[in-house]
Amino acid sequence: MTVSEPVSATRWLDQEDQKPLVQIKGVTKKYGDVTAVDNVDLDIYPGELFCLLGGSGCGKSTLLRMLAGFEELNSGTITIDGVDMSNVPAYERPTNMMFQSYALFPHMTVEKNVAFGLEQDNVPKRDLADRVHEILKLVELEDFKKRKPKQLSGGQRQRVALARALVKRPKLLLLDEPLAALDKKLRKQTQFELANIQEKVGVTFVVVTHDQEEAMTLASRMAVMDSGRFQQIGTPTEIYEFPETRFVADFIGTANIVEGRVIEEGADHLSVETEIGDVFIDHGHSVSAGSRVWIALRPEKIRLEKTDSPANSPNEVAGVIDDIGYLGETSLYKVRLENDQIIDVTAPNQSRPMNRSHRITWDDKVKISWDASSNMLLTS
Ligand code: ADP
Ligand code: MG
Repeated sequence: MTVSEPVSATRWLDQEDQKPLVQIKGVTKKYGDVTAVDNVDLDIYPGELFCLLGGSGCGKSTLLRMLAGFEELNSGTITIDGVDMSNVPAYERPTNMMFQSYALFPHMTVEKNVAFGLEQDNVPKRDLADRVHEILKLVELEDFKKRKPKQLSGGQRQRVALARALVKRPKLLLLDEPLAALDKKLRKQTQFELANIQEKVGVTFVVVTHDQEEAMTLASRMAVMDSGRFQQIGTPTEIYEFPETRFVADFIGTANIVEGRVIEEGADHLSVETEIGDVFIDHGHSVSAGSRVWIALRPEKIRLEKTDSPANSPNEVAGVIDDIGYLGETSLYKVRLENDQIIDVTAPNQSRPMNRSHRITWDDKVKISWDASSNMLLTS
């Protein structure tokens, strides 16, 4: 494995002539009446860490298995590195699947586990030793090479599984819920390690996960899946800040969603009449007056102020504190509006609560407000 200089995770975006490593075109997979993957199109570029994100049963693993060649397509094509995979069996594809750490051979040392696949391929001894050494160094397991899997922590076992998959030098590494077996804290740490290792080796990764935080942390880009289809494809920031549908806005993070109707279409703004009051949106959208729309608002983008003066401008609404959740670094305020709708607002706890008189508490009258640019306008 050639360890190259760290590179920008989004470097393919800078190169317009960059060719996709993987091209998925019109791919469908059915199991009887169930359409597991429904006519999807996707290009994945060399060096990406691409995440397939979605709830259980939405078709993520099926799509991954089709890339690996473990599953036949009903229609469509998959091209990897310019070659149509239709008649290429799994073992001849430039791909490798990383299985969960419990798929390690328990009776073999770390070193043997990693070397196993190369021995099967009859890689010459000298070359094999070099490759195993290099990859164990990369995943920082050299000192553990004589140990058996049961003598390692969960995170270390995960890195052995990764080393075993990477040592074969695939062009494309496929990982299905790679960190699912780890507890939350370890999973977070391992996410960063996985992203760092991927960046160092430069191998293209496709990672399946149902955990939105994991996808946000790992991905250069991701596809949000639902019922076998892609709802949206983009960078984590695009998906979080510019969701295109209510499904995506709600699936990634938390979103307050209110329904409304466009009442005025200006050159640089829209006025929307909603169930919680008038909302002003300051950037260009192609929706006309009269259209039914939804506004999604992230809880951290809403300001909260203790006051009993009435709200009198757009993007400002009066309410009462219905509930408070203290989460340590932030607090979550549930604000009940006059129409009984609850709006979630989060605020960082920037000072320790010494001065109780200034604190916002249950049943306080408050006003919430937000910037025109914080409104995420959705039409479906
Ligand atoms: P995910 O990985 O997103 O949880 P899957 O790709 O495993 O979802 O499954 C997608 C859908 O296809 C589900 O409805 C599942 O029950 C169905 N499915 C997956 N594999 C098979 C199979 N071998 N036979 C029949 N149905 C399957
Ligand atoms: Mg799955």
